[in-house]
Amino acid sequence: MFQVPPPKQFFLETPPWQEFAVGHEGFVDVLRLQFYLGTLDTYCLDCARESVFQSAAEPLREPVGAGAPRALTVDDLLDGKIKAYPPFNARLTTATGPFTLDELEPFVREDRVFQSAFSCTRDAQHMLFFFFRLRKDRIAKVGQSPSLADLHLPESRKYRKLLGDERFREQVKAIGLHAHGVGIGAFVYLRRVFEDLISTAHQDARKAPGWDQGSFGRCRMDEKIFALKERLPGFLVENRGIYSILSRGVHDLSEQDCLDFFEPVRAGIELILDEKLGQLERDEKIASTAKALAKIKGQTTPQRASQSA
Ligand SMILES: [Zn+2]
Repeated sequence: MFQVPPPKQFFLETPPWQEFAVGHEGFVDVLRLQFYLGTLDTYCLDCARESVFQSAAEPLREPVGAGAPRALTVDDLLDGKIKAYPPFNARLTTATGPFTLDELEPFVREDRVFQSAFSCTRDAQHMLFFFFRLRKDRIAKVGQSPSLADLHLPESRKYRKLLGDERFREQVKAIGLHAHGVGIGAFVYLRRVFEDLISTAHQDARKAPGWDQGSFGRCRMDEKIFALKERLPGFLVENRGIYSILSRGVHDLSEQDCLDFFEPVRAGIELILDEKLGQLERDEKIASTAKALAKIKGQTTPQRASQSA
């Protein structure tokens, strides 16, 4: 059983229904999640672009002394001296408090549900919601809106023209399945997209003079990446070790292996595609600049000719 992920990862990358043991070691992580007061960088469906979302969580507060009660972070409670009031809407307990961190522990680990909301910093009506359930001292995200796939898909749309319709559909299926916690199924689709990109680089490499076809077909994925190092992003080549997992049969992989390797494989695909996109944009810029230069040349040459005449 894995550790409770840090808040940003739990909100934006962890698929729903994946359970994490809480226990005495994990209850502070649950508090950090529920009272996360920071921001999330993700796609805003309403703005139709990337945005920054601000947590709408009510903070823990210190007992009222003189003046307004100060908001406390979970870290403020770590030394055990400061007591805090949980906000009423956190529904942590019906007792009023204030509580030390140790006193909060049983309430935090009790069977319960809580939600976290975030609003877009461009427009507070654009919101993200996440729902968590604690049950038998384990925590899972049991829902979110928009879905994980909706947050991740827009990033992938820009790759459509490079991937082609069929591979793009597979990429979309992979992201959708992963967003629902389906590890092996998502991995199989993602692997097809990755292998296809390596195969394209290979087709290209074969045409080059001096390419040694040799045993390429029998190589493991990390060896293939190394053999194609001239045609693949440096980061991918340096970290090729992790891609050797793509050479293992699906039957050898557990559901958890597939979930764990999903993000690195997806990042590998995007690194390859980002380089291609960058090349495409450079080519387009060069073409349009050449066109503009030709036009200027066309306008200025006759003038010079008339001046010199
Ligand atoms: Zn927005």
